Amino acid sequence: MLLEGKTGLVMGVANKRSIAWGITNAVSKAGARVVLTYQSERLGENVTELAESLKDPLLLQCDVSHDDQIASTMGRIQEQVGHLDFLVHALAFAPREALDGMYADTKRDDFKTALDVSAYSLVAVSRAAMPLMQGRQSSIVTLTYLGSERVVQNYNVMGVAKAALESTVRYLANDLGPHGIRVNAISAGPIKTLAAAGIGGFSKILHFVEKNAPLRRGVTIHEVGNVAAFLLSDLASGITGEVTYVDAGFSTTTAGLEAE
Ligand code: NAD
Repeated sequence: MLLEGKTGLVMGVANKRSIAWGITNAVSKAGARVVLTYQSERLGENVTELAESLKDPLLLQCDVSHDDQIASTMGRIQEQVGHLDFLVHALAFAPREALDGMYADTKRDDFKTALDVSAYSLVAVSRAAMPLMQGRQSSIVTLTYLGSERVVQNYNVMGVAKAALESTVRYLANDLGPHGIRVNAISAGPIKTLAAAGIGGFSKILHFVEKNAPLRRGVTIHEVGNVAAFLLSDLASGITGEVTYVDAGFSTTTAGLEAE
């Protein structure tokens, strides 16, 4: 039991297709107790129903664009658990119109929103969680995508936000390392989720990856969950500031694709 005796916060479950839910299942199976946060009351119903399968979960609402909600979430965890061994940041947002057409058309407000929710929020939650995590060999994992390094049609401002997120992982890893906190990202291959549905032409990207990745298939939320469980565990005690690819190998390939 890789995570026996550990308690962690998983942010970003919307439904059973969410990557955060794949991670929740993997860490629970590995023996961890899980605190889940969901963005809004509306999603709370879904998450409450899903959480019935977990042992002793704690459920809290937290919209990461509000500092007061982040502070009250960490306050509740302090009161009810007292500490955190890990934190999973599996959330992102950009207005739908910014995820279709030309990146050059991105509006200032949409840019701000995407970077605020998808990248700055990792800074805000990590800082707020620090008193609960320091000095106990703890670990933070966030979710990114290849669109941070390469142009992916329609991914647009989210690619820029993911580049900021990956850089944030390196700076946070340096700040939090002396306090015994590791910070890493998983770069997942495309998976059909609510967030992915907002990206123009997503099915085309998914189909291309399934045809051309070295494994000739996509990845599942369970495969991402298993790697997250590893990075959150003491087995990964020497890894920080890294981006780990869980993408069936797609990021290692280049032009001349269209495999048999
Ligand atoms: P999802 O829609 O299931 O999850 C996204 C979550 O973000 C939702 O739970 C949503 O409520 C939450 N969220 C959005 N704005 C928020 C806010 N202001 N406060 C709190 N929560 C907020 O989709 P997903 O694909 O599981 O996304 C999880 C993460 O994985 C995201 O960072 C996404 O960019 C990343 N990712 C997804 C893929 C993919 O193909 N699905 C690939 C690589 C990385």
